[in-house]
Amino acid sequence: MAWDFSTEPEFQQQLDWVEQFCRTEIEPLDLVFPGAAYSRDPKAKALADPLKQQVKDHGLWALFLDKDLGGPGFGQLKLALLNEILGRYRSAPVIFGTAAPDTGNMEMLAAYGTEEQKRRWLYPLMNQEIFSAYSMTEPEGGSDPSLFRTHAMRDGEEWVITGEKWFTSAGARADIIFVMCTNGMFGVPGDAPGVEIMEYPPLHNHIRYNDVRVPADHLLGPEDGAKVLAQRRLGGGRIHHAMRTVAQVKLAFDIMCERALSRQSHGKTIAEHQMVQEAIADSYAEINMLRLLVLWTAWTIDNSSTREARTQIAACKYTAAKVLREVSYRAMHILGSLGTTNLTPLQAMWASAPTMAVMDGVDEVHKVTVSRNVLKSYEPHAGLWPTEYIPAKREEARKKYASLLAADPDLAAWADHAARATARGH
Ligand SMILES: Cc1cc2nc3c(=O)[nH]c(=O)nc-3n(C[C@H](O)[C@H](O)[C@H](O)COP(=O)(O)OP(=O)(O)OC[C@H]3O[C@@H](n4cnc5c(N)ncnc54)[C@H](O)[C@@H]3O)c2cc1C
Repeated sequence: MAWDFSTEPEFQQQLDWVEQFCRTEIEPLDLVFPGAAYSRDPKAKALADPLKQQVKDHGLWALFLDKDLGGPGFGQLKLALLNEILGRYRSAPVIFGTAAPDTGNMEMLAAYGTEEQKRRWLYPLMNQEIFSAYSMTEPEGGSDPSLFRTHAMRDGEEWVITGEKWFTSAGARADIIFVMCTNGMFGVPGDAPGVEIMEYPPLHNHIRYNDVRVPADHLLGPEDGAKVLAQRRLGGGRIHHAMRTVAQVKLAFDIMCERALSRQSHGKTIAEHQMVQEAIADSYAEINMLRLLVLWTAWTIDNSSTREARTQIAACKYTAAKVLREVSYRAMHILGSLGTTNLTPLQAMWASAPTMAVMDGVDEVHKVTVSRNVLKSYEPHAGLWPTEYIPAKREEARKKYASLLAADPDLAAWADHAARATARGH
């Protein structure tokens, strides 16, 4: 029986350790020293580095990478189960070596980098000795890559990159930026002459590449291969975001349920009011639908490839944004005035829903992908009626009983009568 929703006991033990570690070590760090896990400040590093070491000692560092690249080689399904815990804690992805945007860049490097590029960028990224960014979106419009203009010109043993990018997350602090050009994907050192970081936005940077020169071997993958590399990079990133969203909506659900049982209104607990029960019931079903979609997609990737699973990944992307929006809103609402403050995680969670619907490609584009791919397995019906037009199907089915109907007029009359009776009312 291959359909099995259980978790191996050995892996469950690891999940239990992760849960406890996040609760007792990462959450206190986040509450008292927010941002310490990401900081290069020596005092902050002294707090975060021992936690990272504990993760390494448990063989859980860089969870998303295969064994030959230094990760545990869990695959996507196990990663999904881990991310259902990690996504609840702000610093957990970085403490476990699985933080965006580095993870997607590392996956791209692992798949397309030369040995020299892996040595130069991948292994230092894995060890968080350096940090990276990904520069794809351009100010003229992000949803349509055919509008992108940034390009590289070959000049002897160098490439000269010219263009302008928008919303490069963590670009200002990146040691290496992967820049998507019309004719290839390039690794550009953050401090290369000509890399100009604009003042705004402060976190997701607007960057001008003013004739930036990089050595010839900074081209990643084949020349003109940027779109393929981008798909490889973004596919992984999208499913990881969806996995962490499952953790977020479960947190919202826990907050909602606890509060519903704790408050009274009009003579009963809030949980006893039917409209609150509807909010809880809908959230329960939506969270589990998202969770199963994500796990099924992760399983498909493990058993085929990111490319094979691209329709499912696209469906995860916009479903995660929708469930996040709906469940976090309901949870905020059930917390009443408290829900509208930033004294619980809910308000930030709800405010992140529009971000989820835009980042890694806007929802509309992913819905187009799903619809287009799904429609490939359908064909238009011949003639006027759909295949499921019952009178036509019945005529066809009668051929199976033709000799019986011809031999027994009573039975034929009975069949005619029954057919008319079922069609009546319309
Ligand atoms: C938090 C965050 C982090 C990000 N990080 C990075 C990063 O590190 N690197 C990077 O390169 N980019 C990054 N992005 C940018 C992101 O990839 C783009 O925002 C996204 O591709 C959309 O591009 P746009 O913002 O130009 O919106 P537009 O393309 O202008 O789209 C705006 C709206 O137009 C409509 N629309 C557009 N196209 C269609 C369509 N085909 N069908 C129907 N409606 C459509 C939709 O309503 C859409 O929301 C990030 C974005 C966010 C929010």
